[in-house]
Amino acid sequence: MSTALPNRAADLEARLTSVRRRISDAAAAAGRGEPNLIVVTKYFPASDAALLAGLGVRDVGENKAQEAESKAAELPEAGLNWHFIGQLQTNKAKSVVKYARAVHSVDRPGLIAALAKAMAAEDARRREAGGSGREPLECYLQLDLRAQPEEAAGRGGAKPEDMLGLAAAVEQEPALRLKGLMAVAPLGEDPAVAFSRLQELSHELTSRYPAASGISAGMSQDLETAVAHGATHLRIGSDILGPRPVLR
Ligand SMILES: *Cc1c(COP(=O)(O)O)cnc(C)c1O
Repeated sequence: MSTALPNRAADLEARLTSVRRRISDAAAAAGRGEPNLIVVTKYFPASDAALLAGLGVRDVGENKAQEAESKAAELPEAGLNWHFIGQLQTNKAKSVVKYARAVHSVDRPGLIAALAKAMAAEDARRREAGGSGREPLECYLQLDLRAQPEEAAGRGGAKPEDMLGLAAAVEQEPALRLKGLMAVAPLGEDPAVAFSRLQELSHELTSRYPAASGISAGMSQDLETAVAHGATHLRIGSDILGPRPVLR
């Protein structure tokens, strides 16, 4: 894709620099090291992901299976790690394991089974093609942190009480690697309350699974709060890419 404006690289660089500064300020204020930045490129063309790669970004996030698969296929040489962060239908598992390093939205047993099955097929396909097989898929359990989850539709995620059962299901699958937890701050609730709950749940998870210490939390609006509450991976879209483009 070559439709990027000539100043798009400068625009992305300026926004990326300012977000990186916010992250380092937040980490300094919390007296901790810097978390990892995943730049969420959803709605934007593969050309933007390529420009970001040129600016030193290594991790990008997408939330729609088809859009993610085609962008990843467009940029095989960019050295990007693709993180799938959106709600995932089981029939898209086969697509996701082709390109994704991590899935941040693992929230039900059926999806775990579908991912494990798709991973076995993908691993076999790569070996038959003479390759070295597929690296285990990094999995984050997405939790629904709403105070009243029975009200209205949520933004995906399992109930916190189901966390340990899902963790055990992931751990049973050699092709899946349990990395930690993911959450989106519930709309209309204080993100500090949600993210401190997430941090408590993370302590509970790591007491059984010490390697699963990842906390994927924090978006453009609430990254400082997430950093203060132990986020290890931030998922930042609009403050780096700019306002959403008009739908094509
Ligand atoms: C879009 C999205 C983000 C990024 O949100 P911004 O507000 O654009 O920074 C993070 N996480 C998930 C799950 C998303 O869908």
